[in-house]
Amino acid sequence: MLEVEGVTTRYGELTAVDDVSLTVADGELFCLLGPSGCGKSTVLRTIAGFEEPASGDISIRGTDITGRPPHQRDCSIVFQDWALFPHKTALENVAFGLKMQGVDAAERRERAQEALDLVEVGSQAEAAPDELSGGQRQRVALARSLTVDPDLLLLDEPLSNLDRRLRESMQIELKDIQRRLETTMVYVTHDQNEAFTLADRLGVMNDGELVQVGDPGTVYDDPKSRFVEAFLGSTN
Ligand code: ATP
Ligand code: MG
Repeated sequence: MLEVEGVTTRYGELTAVDDVSLTVADGELFCLLGPSGCGKSTVLRTIAGFEEPASGDISIRGTDITGRPPHQRDCSIVFQDWALFPHKTALENVAFGLKMQGVDAAERRERAQEALDLVEVGSQAEAAPDELSGGQRQRVALARSLTVDPDLLLLDEPLSNLDRRLRESMQIELKDIQRRLETTMVYVTHDQNEAFTLADRLGVMNDGELVQVGDPGTVYDDPKSRFVEAFLGSTN
């Protein structure tokens, strides 16, 4: 489904992503895990086309998309900082993606409301983004990305603003949706518990490099470096 091959991304002199290669299969939930500043968001932004890699190739379904603009990449990204349209209500924000897909107005409202209900903000449908808490805004943005049912969904710490109870219930909900819709996801988190709950496979990053990839059990039982061992052993 997704192939990232030898991708290096720089911000000026800084190498934020250093020769990263990974593949994600159809319907797989791949977690990118690592400490703050290790380059997780930059990997996602490069896959989505918001950063140009200095070298390397990215392909989706066997088609090389390196150099294509973001809207021509068959993927949907949910950013860490949750861009909602400020002048639209929660419902209109969620419905907007469906409008782009040519879904008629009545069905848009219905599907948007369903998605808001699913992430437990259904009662806030008519609220504007600035009338919502950070966690509610996150959930509206998540609902927006789920309704569109993209081939590839890139999620950057989508639950980071939620309290623990809600985060844990949303993890279960999200995993359930992902299995049901067979959505291929790359899910970025710095929280190892979250990664172990969600991931079919995971990759651990450190200082721009992808240092270990595997299924969660194997990575946990057989860390390939001191860094991985220490990172997985630490608590946030
Ligand atoms: P976090 O968990 O804190 O979100 P991250 O793993 O997502 O961190 P990135 O945001 O990818 O890390 O950043 C990787 C490195 O690139 C960091 O050193 C960061 O300071 C730097 N960086 C990120 N965005 C930019 C930018 N727009 N311009 C310059 N440097 C940047
Ligand atoms: Mg980040």
